[in-house]
Amino acid sequence: MNAGTTILADIHTLVPMTGQRTQPAAPLHDAAIIVQGCEITWVGTMAQLPDVDTPRERISLRNHIVLPGLVNTHHHLYQTLTRAIAQDSELFDWLKTLYPLWMKMDPDAVYVSALTGMAELILSGCTTASDHLYLYPNGSRIDDEIRAAQEIGLRFHATRGSMSLGESEGGLPPDKATEDEGVILRDTQRAIEVYHDSRRYAMLRIAAAPCSPFSVTADLMRESAALARHYGVMLHTHLAETRDEEAFCVATFGKRPLDYAESVNWVGKDVWYAHGVHFRGPDIDRMAAQGCGIAHCPSSNMRLASGIAPVRLMLDRGLNVGLGVDGSASNDSSHMLGEARQALLLQRIQNGASRFSAYDALWIATRGGAAVLGRDDIGRIAPGFAADMIAVDLNRLEYAGALHDPMAAMVLCAPQGVDFSMVNGRILVRNAVLQTIDIARIIERHNAVSQAILH
Ligand SMILES: [Zn+2]
Repeated sequence: MNAGTTILADIHTLVPMTGQRTQPAAPLHDAAIIVQGCEITWVGTMAQLPDVDTPRERISLRNHIVLPGLVNTHHHLYQTLTRAIAQDSELFDWLKTLYPLWMKMDPDAVYVSALTGMAELILSGCTTASDHLYLYPNGSRIDDEIRAAQEIGLRFHATRGSMSLGESEGGLPPDKATEDEGVILRDTQRAIEVYHDSRRYAMLRIAAAPCSPFSVTADLMRESAALARHYGVMLHTHLAETRDEEAFCVATFGKRPLDYAESVNWVGKDVWYAHGVHFRGPDIDRMAAQGCGIAHCPSSNMRLASGIAPVRLMLDRGLNVGLGVDGSASNDSSHMLGEARQALLLQRIQNGASRFSAYDALWIATRGGAAVLGRDDIGRIAPGFAADMIAVDLNRLEYAGALHDPMAAMVLCAPQGVDFSMVNGRILVRNAVLQTIDIARIIERHNAVSQAILH
């Protein structure tokens, strides 16, 4: 499917994201990219473009800005079914309202909601996404969302989530939302053995992902870490999201969240945490020294009033930070460019207007996310990287007056959808239309499933 050569030509502004974190590489103007199969093989100006024998396709991106595809490091795609619920609640009450609704899902609900959330991600600039699925009611499996990723063409890191600590044992979720720990570990092993691809340019990877300190046991955390390390896959969980979670950790384990994580072997370069809102300076130094990653989810943190993650400090101390739209029920969107803008605005509230630039926001959305997911083959536009790219037409109402700095327009102006997207050399979006699924049909199916769950 990906054989042959594609030329992306006449690019107005190309932001390659190949520089250092604190020092952007200069954008290229009137640029071109050559893609062979799933890989970028050449980047330069139109004047330097070499002759290519019988390219499969030559695409003109005149008047477009081109960036590496954005990387979403934390999500719960199934939550697209339950948006705008528990509108005025903080995390624990929000979860307690939603658990019973989510328990009505079945395999089709997981599949349709994944397609819906992925379509929204792709159309807002995402080319690689991680998803954290931690409920498996009525026979649903992680396979249901993996099928959606394969159909739509998104590069996907499926994390086999889990809950095992029910209300009767001091956890937050209802007992019937939890699974037996033996079942969890066996199914995680199965998902790794069936699906995990560790090779360069892999389209599908698996991670082990017990949900949170208040929904799994310390034993499951330890066993999951051992399993993941046996297979060389990554580990993901929620940590330091809210003050309630911190109080739970202190009351239950006698430790703050990072100390607890360390006590169950959950620190290292193969671990990334969602949120990290309440990490302090010494925590950040420890995580940076160990190579951990953080999925920063600003919209969710604001929506649930969880707090402001110290992202500026994390970056300054050398911690890997990526961006996450988090669950679509706490955002209530899956808009990646919108999330990058939220990160910029929120860090400015915390640190001052000069302390978080448009480049910083795009860095965490691309290079930062790639590092958090343990990938050195995505997140920049350069030879030897995966052909994952997005383009936005600059000739639009929302960018009028900002064309002197198209890169800044992407996050300072109102968030836009992409006009073009390529993942692994395959074109997923042309002229702002998703090529791989019929969105109108999916929205109709999704709304029918959602209505059935809500009533
Ligand atoms: Zn989450």
